[in-house]
Amino acid sequence: MTNFVFIAPPAAGKGTQSKMLVEKYGYEHVSTGDLLREEIAKKTELGMQINEVISAGKLVNDELVLKMLKAKLESIISDNKSFIIDGFPRTFNQAKLLEEVLASLNKEDYKVIYMDLDYEEAKNRVLGRLMCLNCGKSYNDKITSLMPKVEGKCDSCGALLEKRSDDTEETFKVRFDTFIENTKPIIEFYNSNNKLINIDANKSAEDIFKNIETYVTEVK
Ligand code: AMP
Repeated sequence: MTNFVFIAPPAAGKGTQSKMLVEKYGYEHVSTGDLLREEIAKKTELGMQINEVISAGKLVNDELVLKMLKAKLESIISDNKSFIIDGFPRTFNQAKLLEEVLASLNKEDYKVIYMDLDYEEAKNRVLGRLMCLNCGKSYNDKITSLMPKVEGKCDSCGALLEKRSDDTEETFKVRFDTFIENTKPIIEFYNSNNKLINIDANKSAEDIFKNIETYVTEVK
């Protein structure tokens, strides 16, 4: 199956779409945001430093994120599974680092899915977003179709839902600006490499998925 790299502004639905691909097609999902949040949850010294950076909406240093990503990718590839990378690259330097890593693992055949989302829609989604602490499923208390069936609880596993520490209005603005300034310029790089797939993420999760899954079989 085609390996995918997701690039998108905050709350475009990278995590949601990845989970849907995992469930339907058996992909392995690597989210650099999730890997960093796992380190924070361990309450280590490193976790506390990462938390400060994430809560400010800034980017964690390349070396650390790359190390975590590489370890995860090596294990997925040794299991012969297809992967989705969600949240990396976020800068031109990271795009170059990813090329090197994937070349060293003999996996240069990936496609980059760019999920385009308007500023106002991204802001509404971020401000209402609730995450399941146990399975990572995401909900929204401001969008009817994305509300949990029981307030504050995950439909899938029943665990408590919580706001992410970086889903505030102030941090959202920094994250969106960082995306426009650092991440959006790499879209052209992938376009010129014939790796780019453009997806309109202003639609419902189901409609976005219908669009994305056409590339699971069409792009080899
Ligand atoms: P996400 O879950 O993708 O929204 O990421 C949450 C936060 O984790 C980001 O706002 C960054 O602070 C940090 N982060 C995730 N991926 C990266 C990356 N590739 N490089 C640097 N920081 C990252």
